[in-house]
Amino acid sequence: MRRGRSAKIVATLGPASSTVEVIAALAKAGADVFRFNFSHGSHEDHADRLEMVRAAEREIGRPIGVLLDLQGPKLRVGRLAQGRIGLTRGERFRLDLDDAVGDQRRVQLPHPEIFAAIHPGTVLLLDDGKIRLKVESCGADHAETTVIAGGGLSDRKGVNVPNVVLPIAAMTEKDRKDLQFGLDLGVDWVALSFVQRPEDMAEARRLVAGRAALMAKIEKPAAIDRLDEIIELSDAIMVARGDLGVEMPPEVVPRLQKKIIRAAREAGKPVIVATQMLESMIQNPAPTRAEASDVATAVYDGADAVMLSAESAAGEYPVEAVAIMDRIIKEVEQDGLYRSYIEAFHAVAERTSADAITLAANQVAHTLQSAAIVTYTTSGATALRASRERPDRPILGLITRMVTARKLALAWGVHAVFCEDAHDLDEMVQKARQHARAEGFAGPGASIVVTAGLPFGTPGATNLLRIAWVT
Ligand code: PEP
Repeated sequence: MRRGRSAKIVATLGPASSTVEVIAALAKAGADVFRFNFSHGSHEDHADRLEMVRAAEREIGRPIGVLLDLQGPKLRVGRLAQGRIGLTRGERFRLDLDDAVGDQRRVQLPHPEIFAAIHPGTVLLLDDGKIRLKVESCGADHAETTVIAGGGLSDRKGVNVPNVVLPIAAMTEKDRKDLQFGLDLGVDWVALSFVQRPEDMAEARRLVAGRAALMAKIEKPAAIDRLDEIIELSDAIMVARGDLGVEMPPEVVPRLQKKIIRAAREAGKPVIVATQMLESMIQNPAPTRAEASDVATAVYDGADAVMLSAESAAGEYPVEAVAIMDRIIKEVEQDGLYRSYIEAFHAVAERTSADAITLAANQVAHTLQSAAIVTYTTSGATALRASRERPDRPILGLITRMVTARKLALAWGVHAVFCEDAHDLDEMVQKARQHARAEGFAGPGASIVVTAGLPFGTPGATNLLRIAWVT
């Protein structure tokens, strides 16, 4: 099954998508990677869904990636009398460590690290920024604030402290347990939430210990300040616009999205644009024009993937949301202007044989108008370098490890196929021809451009380019 597009689709699973039938329908409609959001659901729910994804994978006969999204240190206020209060602009409101039920005058904020980091003048955002509190005075266990934007506040709502680097690790105790559980389950990607510093990624990498690929969710201003270092320590990046748009004013989100996409493309790391892409489809069978345009913009910018959250996890039209995303991507990629947008940016090649061979392969495939660039890859690195170039010919990744094939489901333009490694040059060319034909890339007389590494089966050894003709 060929997708007929280069950008990929990530669909979050949840109550609206927890049967094999729906998951298989999402995969057939275009979902390449499924996201398991560990902010919701029990371990049992996630284990059941993983089995369903693998059943759908067998049904469609294509590798599907699974992304475990860790909740991260989401900061929350405590409980309130009657579950809810109303705050009015100009009122005083106190936050403290006292676990007594809150009222009109105060509520618990069970995070001493926030009190240690704030100072008079700091603005605290509650409930996705709907409520704004300005700190007037504070101590080690409390803050006196003035309400500058009021509204209803209910139990356990989230708290954001923009522009303050909090001395908290990106992984909580829950995250550590969820991570071990997910790794034992066999997820392909792990996304770390609320990353603030490169050290957060280094710590996560130590814990993941090579059992999955690692993604940094960029949603804190502090992460933007150290973006390149964080990208360096990540295997992929997510533009997590939900929290990013709370921590930063909405008008800066579009330019940050472009900046993050550009930096990730430069580094050759897959980048996902996430959150509210087709938000109105949670209730409606068709998106707004603005939403369609938002998806298209991410594709014109060269993002590897676009993501659905509640649309596919809890919405009324999960399959329709994936199907319209698929159609929007195809429409953009068939637009004559698309290539000129993509080619406006070219990453600088590194002085490695893999980059040299990749650039040459693109050039040859373009000149010959070849049916595909076929890359043999074990770790996935060569296919990612090919993807980084955003070639105008399809990339067929022949991959000797299933985990790599699933991981590459996220990468722009890579059609990943799991296959046995070749043992000599003749076999390599023969297999490349066979797979190019079988996967619907090439008919008789078409050329393919094959890259591989000698000796065979050695990760990172790409040093060979061969032109072959399909018979
Ligand atoms: C986001 O904030 O955009 C995001 C993807 O994270 P979450 O859905 O976990 O809040």
